[in-house]
Amino acid sequence: LLELDDVYKSYGEEQVLSGVSFEMDAGDVDVVIGPSGSGKSTMLRCVNRLTEIDSGDIYLDGDCVTDADTDVNELRKQVGMVFQDFNLFAHLTALGNVTLGLRKVRGMDKSAAQEKGYEHLEQVGLLDQADSYPAELSGGQKQRVGIARALAMDPKLLLFDEPTSALDPELVGEVVEVMRDLAAEGITMLVVSHEMGFARSAASDIIFLDDGRIVEHGPPEQLFENPEAARTGEFLSRLE
Ligand code: ATP
Ligand code: MG
Repeated sequence: LLELDDVYKSYGEEQVLSGVSFEMDAGDVDVVIGPSGSGKSTMLRCVNRLTEIDSGDIYLDGDCVTDADTDVNELRKQVGMVFQDFNLFAHLTALGNVTLGLRKVRGMDKSAAQEKGYEHLEQVGLLDQADSYPAELSGGQKQRVGIARALAMDPKLLLFDEPTSALDPELVGEVVEVMRDLAAEGITMLVVSHEMGFARSAASDIIFLDDGRIVEHGPPEQLFENPEAARTGEFLSRLE
């Protein structure tokens, strides 16, 4: 479903991604780990072209999304993104946040968008908060609205950039639980996260990125129990 082929990206002198290649099948949940500054967010942002790559190719469902003539708006309908700091509109209710894209991007009428909005709020356990504004929600609830908003667009792929790292520790669990449900439903997800519980239980593969390179890539059992690269073991021992 997703393929990165020899992707390079630099900012000025700084090489941030140096020949990143991997593939994901539909239904896979790949978790990206790695030190701060290793290029995790940049890699994610390249997939929906919030960041432009210097060379290489990225394919989604067989289409090269990094071609100059790719319709970026069309691409972003197919690739949802959940951000660390939620990125909700403060002046819109939970339902308003979830339905905005359905109305503006998908062109659905109000009642159809609301029906679908309620469906996705229910999916993340927030039907009872549909009329609440972000300021009235906890961090965990805000992030679940962010997830519902992304799901509402029926994306082929969902990107998560450290979805729980802005949350108080006691609120992490409710978001991880929603993500686990999505994984079990077969939603294809590329997740930057250091939640090792989630990685161990839900990931198809773990990708360890260090200094813009994939140092190790494999199923969680292998990567956690028997890492091939010394660097991977070192990094994991500092996490756990
Ligand atoms: P973290 O774990 O801290 O979120 P990360 O692995 O997500 O780190 P990136 O955010 O991808 O790392 O950043 C990789 C490198 O690229 C960093 O050195 C960062 O300073 C640099 N960088 C990222 N975005 C930009 C930008 N828009 N302009 C210039 N440099 C950038
Ligand atoms: Mg980051």
